[in-house]
Amino acid sequence: MEVLISGTKLALLQGDITVQDTEAIVNAANSGLLGGGGVDGAIHRAGGPAIAEECRRIREEQGGCPTGKAVITTGGRLKARYVIHAVGPVWSGGQRGEDELLASAYRSSLELAREKGIRSLSFPSISTGAYRFPLERAAGIATRTVVEYLKEHPGAFAEVRFVLFSPEVLEAYRSALKNFVR
Ligand code: ADP
Repeated sequence: MEVLISGTKLALLQGDITVQDTEAIVNAANSGLLGGGGVDGAIHRAGGPAIAEECRRIREEQGGCPTGKAVITTGGRLKARYVIHAVGPVWSGGQRGEDELLASAYRSSLELAREKGIRSLSFPSISTGAYRFPLERAAGIATRTVVEYLKEHPGAFAEVRFVLFSPEVLEAYRSALKNFVR
């Protein structure tokens, strides 16, 4: 699925984010920037040690990355030149600001990319794996936040992709996005 939003191509596809050719890919990181399982582990494995090395430096300088925020490193050996490490919330019932923190993780990533002049980026489904955020709810927040940002910043990006790992996740994002575009 592909739509045009204020001059930016917004694409949803099923696939592996580590092989995307966008200028940046977004990682679903943890606040310690220590790497982990899921998409985080896959990105570090594919990109090599240069990514963890820069994460370590950021950790020393600013003690990691708060939930809802993002930091940027090299993409190492990835096709993508940069990795934006976004920290989504751990789901704990929905009364601890999880919705706002998830929206903030997407917004912070877009803001960082725009500041760097990055023209294309790929997002995974942040927080819906090990962090257990309910999928449909996360898909609604992710798509709404990105669509709103693209409308607020027309032409800031050539392309934004959601790269979803399974057919089930792709379908959740597809039906969520349909609510925001004709
Ligand atoms: P979190 O800790 O934020 O929940 P996870 O990595 O556990 O992050 O899961 C987030 C999403 O990323 C899940 O939908 C998972 O299936 C997906 N995922 C795992 N590996 C990849 C990959 N290589 N490319 C894209 N998505 C992936």
